[in-house]
Amino acid sequence: MTGQVQRAKVLVISLGGTIASTSASADGGVVPQLSADDLVGAVPDLRTVADIEAISFRQLPSGDISFGDLVALAHVIEDYEAQGVNGVVVTQGTDTIEEASFTLDILLDVSIPVVVTGAMRHPTLASPDGPGNLLSAVKVAAAISARGLGCLVVMNDEVHAARFVRKMHSSSLSTFQSPGSGVLGWVAEERVRIVARCAPLATVNLDESDVVSPVALVGCALGDDGRTLGELQRLGYRGAVIDAFGAGHVPSMMVGAIESLATMMPVVLSSRTGAGEVLEHTYGFAGSESDLLSRGVISGGALDGRKSRVALTLALAASRDAKNTTALFVKVRDSLSY
Ligand code: ASP
Repeated sequence: MTGQVQRAKVLVISLGGTIASTSASADGGVVPQLSADDLVGAVPDLRTVADIEAISFRQLPSGDISFGDLVALAHVIEDYEAQGVNGVVVTQGTDTIEEASFTLDILLDVSIPVVVTGAMRHPTLASPDGPGNLLSAVKVAAAISARGLGCLVVMNDEVHAARFVRKMHSSSLSTFQSPGSGVLGWVAEERVRIVARCAPLATVNLDESDVVSPVALVGCALGDDGRTLGELQRLGYRGAVIDAFGAGHVPSMMVGAIESLATMMPVVLSSRTGAGEVLEHTYGFAGSESDLLSRGVISGGALDGRKSRVALTLALAASRDAKNTTALFVKVRDSLSY
């Protein structure tokens, strides 16, 4: 499949971030203040690719985007698909693209391309990357070959699956990578090349009135005894992700705390390595993956800690009891691959 529909209609929705940031004062740092119309107006070439409609949805640094914002955004996107839009581009800060894009991926039940992009260099620097990223993102959103791939992230002319993409560098233009899977494609001149396709992701349907409860992401480090875990329930957390060593391992000192936590809330095990998946039955020591899984912990599979936390948060919000939460989480996890 190549090409794009005859004169595609693409919706650009802005949420803020570096791509929309300029100086509020001569001596101050930049803050998100450009509108979606400003972003689109700065790239006249967009009009050669598609008819563009622009919506300013939020103007935030991306760390301030909430799950509630993304649930509301997903409904806007679904409404526009129903009205016949051919693709959607969401612009936002890059700091949380890996989580926001995966949240949209799970929430959205659409077949049009939904492409998230941003910028590493803001518009007042010598070589801002926002305009080029926006142009490539619109090309992908208008491409027939990008349909049915779920939510995508386009940065630096590369096309990534939301489920695997990670921000790997604090300032480099090539910060977005998918170390576990590789890219799905790229953009060259006017061509969108899709070279790999994703399995259809299980979706979770949420209303704006659904309560989103906090889920803790707990890192694991050499010599850690897990003493913070005993406080999570009192602090109001309703689920936890343990971002463990290697194939899903923790120091043996943490095992008791994890086992007891798993009797109070769903606890997911992920790997802090950033690629590959949690093993199931290779190691047998106290604190190994098989030990933790036998104590009621749920495997995050190939989802990293941040993506596991997104999936668990949405599963919790959509379900009434622990059994249902686990089943929903596992459904999303197992739909990552064929
Ligand atoms: N540095 C960030 C960005 O790329 C700021 C943010 O995430 O909002 O947009």
